[in-house]
Amino acid sequence: MNLADGYALMVQAAVEGMRPDPELRCDEWAEEFMKLPKSGPKPGEFRFDHSYPARRVHQVLSPGHPCKRVVAKVASQMFKTQTALNWIASLIHRRPRNILALEPTDTLVKRFSARVSTMIRNVPELAERVAAAKSRDSRNTVQAKDFLGDATLYMNTAGSAANLAEVSAPYIYVDEIDRLELNVDGEGDPVELAEARATQYANDSKFFYTSSPAIEGFSKIDTLFEMGTKEYYHVPCPHCGELQPLLLENFRFRRDEETGFMDRAWFVCPHCWCEIDERHKTMMLRDEVAGGRARWVATAQGDGETVSFTLSAFYMPVGAVTWLTLARQYARAKDRLARGDHEGMQVFYNTRLGLSYKNSETVTTAKQLRDRAEKYPLRVLPDAALVATMTADTQPNRLEVQIEAWGPGMEHWVIDFIVLNGPPTDPPETPGSVWQRLDEIRRTPLLHASGRPIMISAYGIDAGGANTQDVYNYGAARRTLNCTVLHGSSRPNKPIMGSSPSRVDIDWGGTKTPGGVELWTVGTDVAKDWLSNRMQLLEGPGAMHFNDALPPEWFDQMVVEQSRTRWHKGRAIREWVKPNGARNEAWDVSVYNLAIAHQLGLHKWTPLDWQRLRDKLIPPIGDLFAPVPAPAPVLVAPPPLTVPPAPPSAPATPAPSPVQTSVPAEPPSPAPVVLPPPAMPPPAPVPAPPAPLPPIARPAPRRRIYSRGIQ
Ligand SMILES: [Zn+2]
Repeated sequence: MNLADGYALMVQAAVEGMRPDPELRCDEWAEEFMKLPKSGPKPGEFRFDHSYPARRVHQVLSPGHPCKRVVAKVASQMFKTQTALNWIASLIHRRPRNILALEPTDTLVKRFSARVSTMIRNVPELAERVAAAKSRDSRNTVQAKDFLGDATLYMNTAGSAANLAEVSAPYIYVDEIDRLELNVDGEGDPVELAEARATQYANDSKFFYTSSPAIEGFSKIDTLFEMGTKEYYHVPCPHCGELQPLLLENFRFRRDEETGFMDRAWFVCPHCWCEIDERHKTMMLRDEVAGGRARWVATAQGDGETVSFTLSAFYMPVGAVTWLTLARQYARAKDRLARGDHEGMQVFYNTRLGLSYKNSETVTTAKQLRDRAEKYPLRVLPDAALVATMTADTQPNRLEVQIEAWGPGMEHWVIDFIVLNGPPTDPPETPGSVWQRLDEIRRTPLLHASGRPIMISAYGIDAGGANTQDVYNYGAARRTLNCTVLHGSSRPNKPIMGSSPSRVDIDWGGTKTPGGVELWTVGTDVAKDWLSNRMQLLEGPGAMHFNDALPPEWFDQMVVEQSRTRWHKGRAIREWVKPNGARNEAWDVSVYNLAIAHQLGLHKWTPLDWQRLRDKLIPPIGDLFAPVPAPAPVLVAPPPLTVPPAPPSAPATPAPSPVQTSVPAEPPSPAPVVLPPPAMPPPAPVPAPPAPLPPIARPAPRRRIYSRGIQ
């Protein structure tokens, strides 16, 4: 050894001495120390042979890896919790610092804490560190476990800002982040709040976020995933060897032609078009450490401090959920989706594919609706429809009115949309007031495609705007005319139409009438879900038809609101939100028409009920040689503006006149369609005298006049 060599050795020794102890990576630690509980599915020493993809996630979680955030957007019951436990255990053992673990609910905190306790019992290296801390009379509770090194593992919900505020920790695990409340006690984003716990640790901190995602556009794990490297697990094709991710678009399944049962599920390789069966999976999933070729492939550079992964249930180890099971679940979800029910598909996307769900292959754009608009005459019920409803939305300077026609299976057609300009504060009896013009529309018969006149069966007015008392006053006097005063409630799971009204006071023009009006509550969120989920249907039950003469803004307003899922105490709350200042009257009156249809009980009608009504309204002609039936009553073109003096109001759509017009001074009022309860033969449309409108400023005496009867 010469002098130079000696100097080099000395320098090397000095450098070694300054370096921290060589880090054992988290994946190595797990294989060396982690013992899984005897009661679990894989008792004994932890191995990656049931979750090869988890290996790299462990590696980047290791304190020696430079990344700051690790994001796992994965299907349910993949490797999330065990990875978190391995990480926490290796930290307790090798890098004792405070650790904060956040769960969406108290129940999940308890469950996670129980798994931590079991782990501590099973792994001697952890047990002695917790026990050593215990001897100093310290905490070993559900929510906090002290361990050697003057450090604590805190386990809590992210549901309260207070839970986050008291703790300072460099290592933070946030489980099921899409199930957390988006806004913790109004103080902001739980990610920001959690990361604020680690500010004093600067470069030494690390965050591990996991979740199966929720709704697209509102998914926190999506946002975190996008910030990072966006890594997909690529596996080699057993035939051509090309590496590829297992994607839904390459997934195939088959039903047995005789039994109809699903009997095979496989992937098609997009490179060689060969079929990949589940039996190939064990070989395909093996990573390089295990002698295979599978590996994570990053698809983005990311922000330089976030490594993000996504993994679907297609990568479940053999023995867990099979491809065939997934194919059956997917096929069932597709069947439900075809009926307008998105729940199954959302669950499949979120928990199986590890993807957020957009309620819309589904959410329709205004342009899509406009492109779909149909040519049919306004104010004419198409042949399939037999019942007409109308609703009005009140605005400070106008009413917006929509008339819809309803047919079997709740298929419905917008047959007119009218804006009545003028202040709703004018008393209803004022000539030319919006209320008078609304009455005029109600009194004017519509036409059925068969040529028969049909009256609006029921109509509703939203009392939720700025003119509540005006609406009460108007509606109270028209209860006999099937006028319903409506009030929207966005409380979750409220029925589309309440079963009974509440009575509220009228205070109008200085006159108080206690309990003077019946107020019916509309479950607007449920109604909006119903409409929106069926918006892509072109025809058949539940489909909504739009007229191409509707104004362009009508279509914009139909799609302006978006649904989102908020998580409160671990429970999903679906709600509809409107961008500030956006107009949505068309959407509102559509929702209210649906509510009126429910009030009439149309949603319960069987095909037989519809046929009975059809037979009453449009008697079959029968014998072609029978005497010609009397001509249909004189039909009247809609004259919504005939009430003088006509204010400068214009219907939003030009009043169409598809019918022969002859406007008598007092139009004959054909019989209103009296709606039968389901399974009851509908009464014949008895000609009624023209309904006189009491010139009211004061509500009618309190009495229950009409029987809605069809709840
Ligand atoms: Zn191939």
